[in-house]
Amino acid sequence: MNSIIIIGAGLAGYNTAKELRKLNPEIAITIIATDSGRFYSKPMLSNALSAKKEPAAIALNSPEQMAIQLNATVRPHTTVEHIDTATQTLHIGEERLAYSKLVLALGADQIQLPLTGDGAADVFTVNDLDEYTEFRQRIEQKKRIAIIGAGLIGCEFANDLAVAGYQVDLIDLAPQALGRLLPPAGSSHLQEKLSGLGVNFHLGTSVASINNNASGYTVTLANQHTLETDLVLSAVGLKPRTALAAQSGITVNRGIVVNRHLETNAPNVYALGDCAEIEGLVLPYVMPIMNAMRALAQTLNDKHTATVFPAMPVMVKTPACPTIVSPPAAGAVGEWQIEASSEGVKSLFMGADGKLLGYALNGSATAERSKLTPLLPPVLSAL
Ligand SMILES: Cc1cc2nc3c(=O)[nH]c(=O)nc-3n(C[C@H](O)[C@H](O)[C@H](O)COP(=O)(O)OP(=O)(O)OC[C@H]3O[C@@H](n4cnc5c(N)ncnc54)[C@H](O)[C@@H]3O)c2cc1C
Repeated sequence: MNSIIIIGAGLAGYNTAKELRKLNPEIAITIIATDSGRFYSKPMLSNALSAKKEPAAIALNSPEQMAIQLNATVRPHTTVEHIDTATQTLHIGEERLAYSKLVLALGADQIQLPLTGDGAADVFTVNDLDEYTEFRQRIEQKKRIAIIGAGLIGCEFANDLAVAGYQVDLIDLAPQALGRLLPPAGSSHLQEKLSGLGVNFHLGTSVASINNNASGYTVTLANQHTLETDLVLSAVGLKPRTALAAQSGITVNRGIVVNRHLETNAPNVYALGDCAEIEGLVLPYVMPIMNAMRALAQTLNDKHTATVFPAMPVMVKTPACPTIVSPPAAGAVGEWQIEASSEGVKSLFMGADGKLLGYALNGSATAERSKLTPLLPPVLSAL
């Protein structure tokens, strides 16, 4: 019997199941997840406070509701420990579960910094709804939050917490916020707007230690500056979850290695979402998932289909400074052309042939998104 098993109940796992069910009402689908299996939009986590959403209201559906909606078996709080790719069998404790096709939608882990001090173990990360629920409980009645990492997630949380009335310290080793996505002019604009909300930036330095004090924590920075806070949130980046695949003999590099058909080196095993490295690209965002899952659902339904990625701009949810980025491909040759005003910054990355290869739009410049996006090259073009 054809049995599709999807490991992972995040946006990649559930959306693949939804798309496959649209194509095939009969096929048996099982979704297995270590977490609670609730269906929710993860991007919501970093703007839920200002949207006045309680964690319980972020979950759109319970695993039981998803099982009914998808006509599938959903198994939350269940961890797959090994994949026997030769016999096409999953190991879950003593249980053995056969698959005809397997989808790895395992997500990514937050990178944990090796921090010192007697408060280091209390550092929070928020990478799923369960962690966010705990985070919200912990910040009740608190006033001061220090965030390590001024990337997309760190800046979004900084904006959200500052609007909700928290005193926010934002720390990053890089000299500028969102440094991987924005040229310096765009970063400065974003920093200025977040500073206007009261966010205190500590850039070009790292955290040396975190220690308990009478009212919370003392964070000592590498530049010897200290700050007092009630909670430390770490948002220093994501690392694709590759351990299960690697110990099952599936090839991994930065992520689980797949081709544009989302095939791993093991027969009938596919990967997508934050855990995957698709043709060398690790793209931990929603749009790549939505594009990949449409192709994968076709393949799972026996119509071998390649993924195509158009330009996929990422909207940074910092309402103090609306920001949309579509970074140039790694290694792209060109230069930034900047038009800045007090209202916004338009940064265009132009190739030598005058073609637009990427952009970063802040503030009023975001209005040009729909005009500029069609001019961008695809991220992964059709063969
Ligand atoms: C705070 C925050 C804000 C974000 N904002 C944006 C945004 O504005 N725009 C954007 O494009 N992207 C954003 N992202 C990124 C986006 O949310 C992710 O790319 C996407 O949600 C990843 O989905 P996924 O299904 O690949 O992984 P996940 O949602 O992490 O799901 C992984 C699943 O795999 C399961 N799992 C893992 N290992 C096992 C195992 N061995 N056995 C069983 N189950 C297992 C887990 O339990 C989980 O169910 C944001 C991310 C965060 C954290």
